[in-house]
Amino acid sequence: MACLFCRIIEGEIPSKKVYEDEYVYAFYDIAPMAPVHVLLIPKQHMDSADAVTAENSVYVAKIFEAIPTVAKACGLVNGYRVITNCGEDGCQSVKHLHFHLLGGKKLPETLA
Ligand code: AMP
Repeated sequence: MACLFCRIIEGEIPSKKVYEDEYVYAFYDIAPMAPVHVLLIPKQHMDSADAVTAENSVYVAKIFEAIPTVAKACGLVNGYRVITNCGEDGCQSVKHLHFHLLGGKKLPETLA
């Protein structure tokens, strides 16, 4: 069966979309960790940052091209944070590459 985020891209599982293009789908995180918490995902499945290659890295580039647009649309005029968790030690819970876009308040400086 397709992964959770592939099913969200296909519309089989509902999401609150904030942005979409040929390469990228962006939607609000279901359990926000900040006043604004959006996930940006590639429309081609790849498990994590560890699966990025010369063949699929265009999807990552397109995500980063979309980030300023999404940030602006979400009112993040004072900055934001972009995070990707990778694998077991990175505490990645959904095995489809995604970037967390967080903001809407001054975020804590520490990582852990
Ligand atoms: P990570 O822990 O980095 O793998 O992040 C996975 C993120 O996906 C978490 O922040 C979850 O809250 C979020 N998430 C899981 N299921 C859904 C869903 N159906 N819609 C929106 N966000 C989700």
